Amino acid sequence: MIQIKDLHKSYHMGSNSLHVLKGINFNVKEGELVSIMGSSGSGKSTLLNILGMLDEADTGEYILDNVPIKNLNEKIAAKYRNEFLGFIFQSFNLINYKSALDNVSMPLYYKGIKRKERTEKAMHYLQKVGLAEWSHHLPSELSGGQKQRVAIARALASDPKVLLADEPTGALDTKTSYEVMELIQGINDEGKTILVVTHEDDIAHMTKRIVNLKDGIIIDDSKVEQVRASLHV
Ligand code: ADP
Ligand code: MG
Repeated sequence: MIQIKDLHKSYHMGSNSLHVLKGINFNVKEGELVSIMGSSGSGKSTLLNILGMLDEADTGEYILDNVPIKNLNEKIAAKYRNEFLGFIFQSFNLINYKSALDNVSMPLYYKGIKRKERTEKAMHYLQKVGLAEWSHHLPSELSGGQKQRVAIARALASDPKVLLADEPTGALDTKTSYEVMELIQGINDEGKTILVVTHEDDIAHMTKRIVNLKDGIIIDDSKVEQVRASLHV
């Protein structure tokens, strides 16, 4: 599903430059649940943003579902991004003046899906994350864990090939973090390819494979004995 080869990325600020990714190589197969782990500043978000086509590498290769991601014009890039990828962020990134239902149906609106089908689909995904009864509530009326569930439903609504989550539990307490990871495990059990960026060891151990990033290189890439959330809570 994902093939990356010798990715490099630097940031330039005036006369200074910072070499953040220093030759990243890895592949992700369809159906994997992988965490990208590393301390703050190790380049995790930079890597995830490149995988999410929100940013581009300076050099190296990125192939997403057999499509080489390179020099695409913005229109085509946006099309692939919307079709192939779903995003989950630490800060949820919900629209505050829209209900849970409208937040989830938003990506379907941009896909040109008619209102009735949008609502049905959005309800289906809200139900999937356990929030059917909360569909008409605003984000401000939801707990952190519920907000992240809405964001997960929104990410799933357009049925992306890959789900990319950047510190999805970063703003949540421990118990809620495990619950959100358990939901992510369940979505992966149904076949979705998922990448989770985290700096937390116990969160990483709830995925099936940990890619360990340090100072812009992968220092370890190994399968883990997946811990189910129910063991913690
Ligand atoms: P992580 O997500 O692992 O904490 P990041 O990928 O966000 O790491 O950042 C890696 C390094 O690149 C950090 O030193 C950060 O300050 C720097 N950095 C990130 N984004 C930018 C940017 N847009 N411009 C300049 N430097 C950046
Ligand atoms: Mg980050």
